[in-house]
Amino acid sequence: MSEIIDEVNSFFPQFSEAVSGMCSEHVRSSATLAGNLVNASPVADTVPLLMAVNAVVHLKGCEGTRSIPVREFYHGYKQTENKSDEWVASITIPTGEYNFIHFEKVSKRKEVDISAVNSAIALQISEGMIKKASMACGGVGPTTLYMPKTSHYLEGKRMTEETFLEAYDIIRGEASPIGDVRGSADYREAVMENLLMKHYLAYESSQEADGHEE
Ligand SMILES: Cc1cc2nc3c(=O)[nH]c(=O)nc-3n(C[C@H](O)[C@H](O)[C@H](O)COP(=O)(O)OP(=O)(O)OC[C@H]3O[C@@H](n4cnc5c(N)ncnc54)[C@H](O)[C@@H]3O)c2cc1C
Repeated sequence: MSEIIDEVNSFFPQFSEAVSGMCSEHVRSSATLAGNLVNASPVADTVPLLMAVNAVVHLKGCEGTRSIPVREFYHGYKQTENKSDEWVASITIPTGEYNFIHFEKVSKRKEVDISAVNSAIALQISEGMIKKASMACGGVGPTTLYMPKTSHYLEGKRMTEETFLEAYDIIRGEASPIGDVRGSADYREAVMENLLMKHYLAYESSQEADGHEE
């Protein structure tokens, strides 16, 4: 994971930033991206971003090679697509389609702590309209969840606070959080909605920083 921070920074800085906020330096120096993926924690911090940009996992095994989108890699709690003889050989990370990508994590401490809920969004925005959207959320179901309905809902809408507020009803229907030591089911649902809005607020801040304030 430490090596990945530098490897992907030039084309996917959001991923580098997310990985930099994971674990501690010594854990990052021994953990791998494939391990984080196959470990199948519902709060793995790399998975929402990989799902949002539609990354593809390439598996190698006794019967050859096959590829599967990260969005389809999980079948249930700790259940992954790879068979016992298959290993993750590589991961393709396409980011070119999107001009706004953002990751948020909520944990008891800002860094070096496992997420209660995390979330990533990738948007293609043109002239204030959302042309393409994909969003994923961790900590609100048995696996990290790709949110097809919320993503679809955002597409074709204006990039405004109202659009994101309206999407709360949709995202609520896509998640099934359960409570545990890091947060109750209600807390997780509320955080998931707040992170949806945080994605919008991050976009607004980025526009202000670039001098595009409307
Ligand atoms: C103190 C601590 C803090 C942590 N904090 C965070 C955090 O903030 N965010 C977060 O997301 N995670 C966190 N983690 C989890 C950590 O990131 C994962 O344990 C790590 O990513 C797993 O990687 P690994 O290479 O050690 O995998 P392993 O533990 O070696 O393997 C995990 C699983 O993946 C399988 N596997 C590994 N490589 C492959 C491969 N190439 N192909 C197929 N299967 C494979 C193994 O067989 C095993 O089933 C934390 C862990 C610790 C110990």
